[in-house]
Amino acid sequence: MSARVDVAVVGGGIVGLASAFRLLEARPDLEVVVLEREAEVGQGQSSRNSGVLHAGLYYPPGSAKARWCTAGKRELERFCADHDVPVARTGKVVAAVRRDELPRLQGLADRAHTNGVEVERLGPTGVLDHEPNLRALAGLWSPSTAVTDFGAVCRALAERVRRDGGAVRTGTEVVGIEQHPDHVRLTTTSGDVEARTVVACAGLQADRLARLAGTGGRERIVPFRGSWLRLRDDRTDLVKGSIYPVPQPGLPFLGVHLTRRIDGQVWIGPNAVLALAREGRGPWSLNPGDLRDTLRFPGLYRLARREFGTAVAEVWRDRVVRATVREVQRYVPDVGLADVCRGPWGVRAQLMEPTGDLVDDFRLRRDGRLLHVLNAPSPAATASLAIGAELRDQVLAQL
Ligand SMILES: Cc1cc2nc3c(=O)[nH]c(=O)nc-3n(C[C@H](O)[C@H](O)[C@H](O)COP(=O)(O)OP(=O)(O)OC[C@H]3O[C@@H](n4cnc5c(N)ncnc54)[C@H](O)[C@@H]3O)c2cc1C
Repeated sequence: MSARVDVAVVGGGIVGLASAFRLLEARPDLEVVVLEREAEVGQGQSSRNSGVLHAGLYYPPGSAKARWCTAGKRELERFCADHDVPVARTGKVVAAVRRDELPRLQGLADRAHTNGVEVERLGPTGVLDHEPNLRALAGLWSPSTAVTDFGAVCRALAERVRRDGGAVRTGTEVVGIEQHPDHVRLTTTSGDVEARTVVACAGLQADRLARLAGTGGRERIVPFRGSWLRLRDDRTDLVKGSIYPVPQPGLPFLGVHLTRRIDGQVWIGPNAVLALAREGRGPWSLNPGDLRDTLRFPGLYRLARREFGTAVAEVWRDRVVRATVREVQRYVPDVGLADVCRGPWGVRAQLMEPTGDLVDDFRLRRDGRLLHVLNAPSPAATASLAIGAELRDQVLAQL
C-alpha cells in the first residue's frame, strides 16, 4: 500500500526543506512529506558551502537571483533569529587589485545600486578600515553580508516541518516517477508514495530526476568541485570578515575568497574544477556513471574550448597550494605558505546548456503535476526561503 499525501518534496537540502516549510506555513492542513535519500537532511551542497548570506549585489537586475537573494536573505535572517541559528553580519570587501578591475568594480557598484543593495566605494586606505591586512587599489564595502551555518538552518527547517505536521523521511531515495491524471506515483527505496503534486529539489541529481519523470530537457548538471584552504587557527586574525575578488566576467563562480566563518575559522576558496563524481566520499572520488554522463555531454567541450586557460589555472591551483597562496597574497600579502592547510570541499550542481553556456539564473520547470528545481546554484542557500515561497505559490495554484 502506498502512502498518500498532498505534496511530496524530493530532496531534503535547504531548498526542499524551505519549500516544505513555506507550504505548511501557508496551509497547515496539507499533508506534506520530504523524501531524502541520505540518513540526515542537508548533507549535500547545503552543508558544504562557504556559509555566506549574500547581500545580492552581483546578480543581473530583474533576474530571479537578484529578486530572491535579497528577499530570501531578509527572511532567512529572521528565521535564524527565531530558531536560534547563529548569524553574524561580518560584512565583505570586494577588492580590486589591478587597474583593469576598476571599471568592473564600478559596474558592480552600479548593479548593487540598481538591486537596492547597500554598498560603499572605498579607496586604498578606506579598505584598511574594514580589513587592515588587505592591499587593494579600491574596494566595495557590503555591510550586510553575513555568515551562518546552512547545515544548522537545514536541521531547524526539518524540525519546523515536523512540528508543523509534515513528515521528513530520511534514508528514502526516489527511484521511479509515474505521472497519472490526478496524482504522481513515486517509487522509493522505502515504499511508494502517491502525491497530488511533487516538488523535485534534488540538487546534483536535478536533471536525472527530470529524466526519471520522462521530461528531461537537453541541459545537464555538470558537477564542479570547490576546495578550500584554511588559515591556521593562530593566523585567523588576518581576516575580519570576507574578502572577495572582482568576479571574472562570463563565469557564474565568484572567485577564490577569504571568509571568516560563523565558528571563527577562515576559509580560502572555493576553486572550481570538474568533479569526477556528483557525490563522493573524497575530493577525488570517481563515479564511472557520473563521469560518463559528463564526458558524453557536448556542452562540456564547448565550454572547455572557450575557458581552456581558466580551467588549466584552476586545476593548477587545486593541486599546488603555493599557487593559491600566491594568488591570495595579491590581496593579503601577509598570508604565507606556513599559514594555511588544506580544508574541506564541496561539489556545485551547475546546469549547462548543450551550447556550453553555464545557466546563470535559477531555473524552475513545471511538468504537469511535477515542479522541478533544475538550477539552484549559489546564492540558493541564501535565497532558499524566497525560492520556497515561489514553489509554494506554484503548488498552491495547482492544488
Ligand atoms: C562550494 C560551494 C560554495 C557555496 N557557497 C554558498 C554561499 O556561500 N552562499 C549561498 O547562498 N550558497 C552557496 N552555495 C550554493 C548552495 O550551497 C546551494 O545552492 C544550495 O545548497 C542548494 O540546495 P539544494 O537543496 O538545491 O541542494 P542540495 O543541498 O544538494 O540538496 C539536494 C538533496 O536532494 C537529495 N536527493 C538527490 N536525489 C534524490 C533522490 N532521488 N531521492 C531522494 N533524495 C534525493 C540529496 O541527497 C540532497 O540532500 C555554495 C555551493 C557550493 C557547492
